[in-house]
Amino acid sequence: LFAGQTDFLKGVVAMDGMPPADRIEVCFAGRSNVGKSSLINALTGRKALARTSNTPGRTQEINFFTLEDSHYLVDLPGYGFAEAPLAIVEKWQRLLKAYLSGRQTLRRAFVLIDSRHGIKKVDHDILDLLNRSAVTFQVVLTKADKIKAGEMNKVIEQVSGELSKYPAAFPQIVLTSSEKGTGIGTLRHIVGTLV
Ligand code: GDP
Repeated sequence: LFAGQTDFLKGVVAMDGMPPADRIEVCFAGRSNVGKSSLINALTGRKALARTSNTPGRTQEINFFTLEDSHYLVDLPGYGFAEAPLAIVEKWQRLLKAYLSGRQTLRRAFVLIDSRHGIKKVDHDILDLLNRSAVTFQVVLTKADKIKAGEMNKVIEQVSGELSKYPAAFPQIVLTSSEKGTGIGTLRHIVGTLV
C-alpha cells in the first residue's frame, strides 16, 4: 500500500495556498529531531521524500504529499525550537490553527513522540490544539530500537496516562522504528483504513 506512489505536491505558507480538500488527509506532527522525516520516508518507501530541513528560524511550511490518488499526507513543521523568532512562531501558530480547525478532510493527526523521552511539556501545545480543534490524534512512538522493552513499557504507561486527559486522543499507541521497519506496516494499515 502506498509504496512508490507518493509525490511531493507543494509547500504551503498561507491558507489560500492549500490544495482543494478533495481527498482523505492525515498529518504528521512532532518536535524537531523526533524522526518525522525518517518515518514519512519509511512509510512511503521513498528514501528522500521528506527532508530533514528543520533549520531554526527557517520559513515554516506545511508540506503536502499525495499518496496514490486517494490521500494527502501532510508534514507539519517540527516544533520546539526555542531559537525561532517570536514573529515567525506566531505566524506559524496562526496558520497551524487555521489548518487544523478548517480542514474538513483531515481524518487524523499522528503526533510523533520519541520513545526515549515520552510526552514532554513542548508536546502539550500541539496536543491541546488538536484537542480543541476536535482533530482525532494518535501517538506514534519513534526510535523504538533505541530503548529496552522494560523502558518501553514505562513510556507507554506515561503516554497512556497523558492521553486519557484528551477526548480527541485515539487510544492506540503505535510503536515504530524507521531504522528497523518496526510498526511501519501497522501505520500504513491505519492510514489505509481511514474513511
Ligand atoms: P525530524 O527532524 O523529526 O524530521 O527527524 P529525522 O527523521 O531527521 O531524524 C532525526 C535523527 O534521528 C536522525 O539522525 C535519524 O537518523 C535518527 N532517527 C530517525 N528515526 C530513527 C529510528 O527509528 N531509529 C534510530 N535509531 N534513529 C532514528
